[in-house]
Amino acid sequence: MNNPKIVVVGSGFAGLESAFYLRQRLGKRVDITVVAENDYFLFKPNTIYIPFGKPASDFYHPIAESFEKRHITFKHARATGVDPKAKRLMTSAGDVPYDYLLLATGSTMRPEEIPGLKEHAVTIWTPTEMEKVGEAFKTVITNAKSGKPQKVLYLVPPKNKCSGPLYEMVFMLDSHLRKLHLRDLVDISYASFEHTFIQAFGARIHQHVTEEFGKRGITGYLEWSVEKIEPGKAVFNDGQVLPFDVLVSFPPYAAAMKWDALPSDDRGFVKTDAGTRQVEGMPDIYAIGDAGDFPVKQAFLALLQADTAAEHVSQRVMQEDPTARFDPVSMCIMEQFNQATFAQVPLYTTGDPDWPVKVREDVPELYKVGSGKIWRVGKKMLGAAMPHAFHVGKPFHAGATWKVMEAGLVVMEAAFAD
Ligand SMILES: Cc1cc2nc3c(=O)[nH]c(=O)nc-3n(C[C@H](O)[C@H](O)[C@H](O)COP(=O)(O)OP(=O)(O)OC[C@H]3O[C@@H](n4cnc5c(N)ncnc54)[C@H](O)[C@@H]3O)c2cc1C
Repeated sequence: MNNPKIVVVGSGFAGLESAFYLRQRLGKRVDITVVAENDYFLFKPNTIYIPFGKPASDFYHPIAESFEKRHITFKHARATGVDPKAKRLMTSAGDVPYDYLLLATGSTMRPEEIPGLKEHAVTIWTPTEMEKVGEAFKTVITNAKSGKPQKVLYLVPPKNKCSGPLYEMVFMLDSHLRKLHLRDLVDISYASFEHTFIQAFGARIHQHVTEEFGKRGITGYLEWSVEKIEPGKAVFNDGQVLPFDVLVSFPPYAAAMKWDALPSDDRGFVKTDAGTRQVEGMPDIYAIGDAGDFPVKQAFLALLQADTAAEHVSQRVMQEDPTARFDPVSMCIMEQFNQATFAQVPLYTTGDPDWPVKVREDVPELYKVGSGKIWRVGKKMLGAAMPHAFHVGKPFHAGATWKVMEAGLVVMEAAFAD
């Protein structure tokens, strides 16, 4: 009998986690192919350090050798479509047949949806954009050093689905300027369409950000939906205006790959079963990580979805009862330079586009928040451990590395979070 063919598309968090999970769980029982347009893994969360001097090259990790080590066929190509009836993935290097298909193609940015944003803002997403943010910060510092007051405005427009990194960067800039004794010359403000700060993370994180903004003298504006950007000013939908010398924004999100043959939402994200991540009506195709329709886009959630889908496929291959289900308990560590903030947040989806996820109230013991210097160590460890796990061809969250880190996390949570 031929081995079942499992094809994974994408070499990001969800793609690598699921491919290495499947190999770890199923051994030689299956043939695994990864189709990816990049032959590297980009550890996006740590690209926030680029504007503050870290080289972009630190965050690219070559991946072809890891596939070789784990006997995974790597097809360095762009997927262009899928024929679910014929069970074939179309790629720029020919068709690939599959029995099970895992789509992990991630998100892209749509700055052009806000008139003027592309022209007048520095945006965060790719390392190249982060370098431009760094250049803009250098100009702010040079001007402040020569005594010229500066205004830096951070902006989260509607349809952004991961506001956390922009909060990290506003706190990082504040800490950086304080270290240079230039903070008094730079006015920092933050405007978001959200109802609360980092809305997805609930009331405790909102309170934390509010307090930090207060301590640091950062002015926050909530429920401010930007309409357009003009030179030196952001115009909001109620006619209010905020001026800036530098505008830093995380643009609206859309799916990186529009799969025409698959059901998708208004942003192109593939519609899935909430528990299994199987594409609606197509049980042999899974959409995991940013590519799927879970309303919050996050690397940690991408790993959880990848593990769920990979386990679900494994159970089916092994003819076991497929019980694997995605439980969206989000986790992140937010850098601020002088400290970091840890959050573990059990979420549920509401179906309300205005407030698409909320914190589960039935498991208060899972909702944890903590701040302090010690959490910066945790952030550093994650940044080293995850690329290392992928480098050796192992899943991160479902592997030995996470088991060790999880044990440490339990101790850290008990001591430094509540
Ligand atoms: C600055 C920044 C900081 C962040 N910080 C955090 C954080 O602290 N914590 C956190 O949890 N999340 C964070 N995130 C979010 C996180 O990076 C994403 O949610 C995560 O990358 C999603 O993983 P993914 O595997 O779904 O997609 P990606 O990591 O984007 O991977 C998608 C892959 O698919 C490939 N691909 C796309 N289309 C095709 C195609 N047609 N054919 C072949 N290959 C294709 C891409 O090249 C890429 O390799 C941050 C994001 C940014 C931008």
